[in-house]
Amino acid sequence: MAEAYDFRARATPAIRALTAYDPGHDIPALRLRFAGHGGLLELGSNENAYGPSPAVSAVVQSVLPELHRYPDPAGKALKTAIARLHGVREDQILLGNGSHELLMQLAQVFSAPGEGIVVSRYCFAVYPIAAQAAGARLVSADAFGEQADMPLGHDLDALAAAITPATKLVFFANPNNPTGTWFGTEALAAFMAQVPPDVLVVADEAYIEYVTDPALQSAMALRARFPNLVVARTFSKAYGLAGLRAGYLVADASVVRAMEPVRESFNLNAMALAAAEAALADAAHLESVRRGNAAERARLAEGLAGLGLTVLPSQTNFLLVRFGPDTAAIEQALFARGVILRPMAGYGLRQYLRVTVATPAENDRLLAALCEVLA
Ligand SMILES: *Cc1c(COP(=O)(O)O)cnc(C)c1O
Repeated sequence: MAEAYDFRARATPAIRALTAYDPGHDIPALRLRFAGHGGLLELGSNENAYGPSPAVSAVVQSVLPELHRYPDPAGKALKTAIARLHGVREDQILLGNGSHELLMQLAQVFSAPGEGIVVSRYCFAVYPIAAQAAGARLVSADAFGEQADMPLGHDLDALAAAITPATKLVFFANPNNPTGTWFGTEALAAFMAQVPPDVLVVADEAYIEYVTDPALQSAMALRARFPNLVVARTFSKAYGLAGLRAGYLVADASVVRAMEPVRESFNLNAMALAAAEAALADAAHLESVRRGNAAERARLAEGLAGLGLTVLPSQTNFLLVRFGPDTAAIEQALFARGVILRPMAGYGLRQYLRVTVATPAENDRLLAALCEVLA
């Protein structure tokens, strides 16, 4: 038989240069391996250990008899609920199969080869992938150092200085993943005042529900002053729906109109639409998740610091922890005990691991395992 043609060579140069997003360990395989051995402790992906609103299960069940039908292509009911929550119009909302999809589409729609996308060092790994897939030039601004007040945090002055006439888009997460760091709403407003009005600034607020620092409010309120501000949200974190894939952005209606043609018509499935709507309606559950996380975030940070580890400040449901030169060995030893943390070498942070804040019992199991490993 003839040698098969390597079709990767037929992909665009920008796509050939891409490395796929690394989602971490093979979790399904590990669940099998650790079943019956205390179970796997999954602290690598910032999922919500408390789960979604109890109302979600019933609405997902109610959709099951209709699975042969296409979902609502407009996602009308969910958009109505989101519009009410934020006080925006439905034509300012775009739904995504997770916000990851929307981040990719923003780069696809609003940048082109040679044009610039500005991010900060230690930004979420999806932004460079989105830029590369679009063939855009990625410009990475310096972040704060390890000794700064906000260690490894985004430096908004450096970010503003990286913007040039070639810049089309700026991406950041606030609070940020993987660092957990953040900047306040006033600092963001001062930054926005320096950005040309035709440059889109994407504020990824995947963790905003977990914020307890009153200096940080959603960027949503700044949109009236800065129409070039795009706010991305997800149901994967505080709403506990990572398995269903639902996210959205709020932006100027012209941004939504420009993106609508590249959206797959049925990008949110029927269960995701119904579940997201039910999750939004249960403000009490969200509040209990927020409180539980805030208490456990503080307790876990204290426990880790008590073991001699350096814990970065965090406003999220995870902690970035400096384990030092033995990081890889510690990660492996925890792994052998069924405890999964997220290695950070891909971010250039070899001496750190990212730890999801989970339930009290799970956090206790982590601390006990670490106590053993570090002894
Ligand atoms: C988890 C996360 C998202 C959300 O991804 P989904 O595709 O909505 O699951 C977006 N941005 C950041 C920074 C994240 O950490």
